[in-house]
Amino acid sequence: MPAKITSWKDSSPRESPPPPEGRISNHSWFTDRMKDSYRKNRARLPLYVQRTAEEKMRNHAMAGLSRSEEVMGLMLGGSFVWEGRGFAIVRDVVTTELEASLSRVRFHEEGFEGLFESLDDLDFDYTIVGWYHSHPGIGCFMSETDVRTQDAAFNMPHHSAIVLDPVRRELEAYRLREGKVELRPMGVYWDLHQDPYRG
Ligand SMILES: [Zn+2]
Repeated sequence: MPAKITSWKDSSPRESPPPPEGRISNHSWFTDRMKDSYRKNRARLPLYVQRTAEEKMRNHAMAGLSRSEEVMGLMLGGSFVWEGRGFAIVRDVVTTELEASLSRVRFHEEGFEGLFESLDDLDFDYTIVGWYHSHPGIGCFMSETDVRTQDAAFNMPHHSAIVLDPVRRELEAYRLREGKVELRPMGVYWDLHQDPYRG
């Protein structure tokens, strides 16, 4: 069954509770300030990334490393609201081969076509909740180009950017608010069937 394409910008949040606290953890690649923001916001995180989606991003970044490439992809999931608080969930990611070099990743029209083909292979309705890309060896931050991309394509409140450095093994999440980059507190969560030792 082909996935239903939800429009890029429009996503009215659905009413649903966030993952339970017992199934949320920090990320092993978090920088100190991400660990800090996780600790402070653990009960009210605005971004949850499912463990398998997180693994895909990390593996993608590591695979790019062996080819000395930056990699990038879209984060798919949903935007939700519960007891007056909004949050986004990343359930999966899609990637495509893009023209990439160690210093930049470009969004190409052809790249987008490839991404949308991959989207058609998914079997759930999705909303694009952001994008991720890697910064091999240069650490996590939002470059001017990254900020322009975020501003042009991921400027909704539920949109986030994740940057991974597979060399330093670091990860940070961001959002844009009134044109300024802010750290986005996030957590990794898992579904019960993914965790045979709990629940
Ligand atoms: Zn970047």
